[in-house]
Amino acid sequence: MRETDLGADLESVLITKEEIDAKLRELAAKIDAEYAGKDLLLVGVLKGAVMVMADLARALSSPVTMDWMAVSSYGAGTQSSGVVRILKDLDTDIQDRHVLIVEDIIDSGLTLSWLLSNLGSREPASLRICTLLRKPDAAKVDIDVEWVGFDIPSEFVVGYGLDYAEKYRNLPFVGTLAPHVYSG
Ligand code: 5GP
Ligand code: MG
Ligand code: MG
Repeated sequence: MRETDLGADLESVLITKEEIDAKLRELAAKIDAEYAGKDLLLVGVLKGAVMVMADLARALSSPVTMDWMAVSSYGAGTQSSGVVRILKDLDTDIQDRHVLIVEDIIDSGLTLSWLLSNLGSREPASLRICTLLRKPDAAKVDIDVEWVGFDIPSEFVVGYGLDYAEKYRNLPFVGTLAPHVYSG
């Protein structure tokens, strides 16, 4: 989809494809340097992190392996509750592995903080986080995020993996939805 195909559903483009590409190259260079000479396992959180994972992994010059987890947060409405259920676990035993969690967005941080303690209990050699987007609320939960692409305002965003009712994931940029989309 091109940005000119926005149609009536999107209100604005928050981060362009070019800005995402440049940022991921910058993050990849830092990650390459940090893990030089080590085996790195990237863990993507389905489904939102698919695009970040695909582009970040290709921007890295070191060989890595990739695995995926799918989790669901219980809770009413659109707020995550921090009570998380594993829908798909890793195929990999991460004990003594260097693990980098790859995320699309950190909002309340509750899902990620659960994930950190879950994966941490499997005794990886190291466990760090790279997220493309982070909202200010994330600061309320004490999570050390090593690599952040963009800090964004507390608005609901879609595109580049992020959905609204499973739509808009394939937009190559991050944008906000027009109010009429929510109101039907
Ligand atoms: P948290 O536990 O950090 O509040 O929730 C993180 C998850 O909520 C993300 O992985 C994502 O699935 C969803 N989420 C949070 N903010 C947004 C947003 O602005 N847009 C979309 N599409 N999903 C979001
Ligand atoms: Mg996510
Ligand atoms: Mg979603």
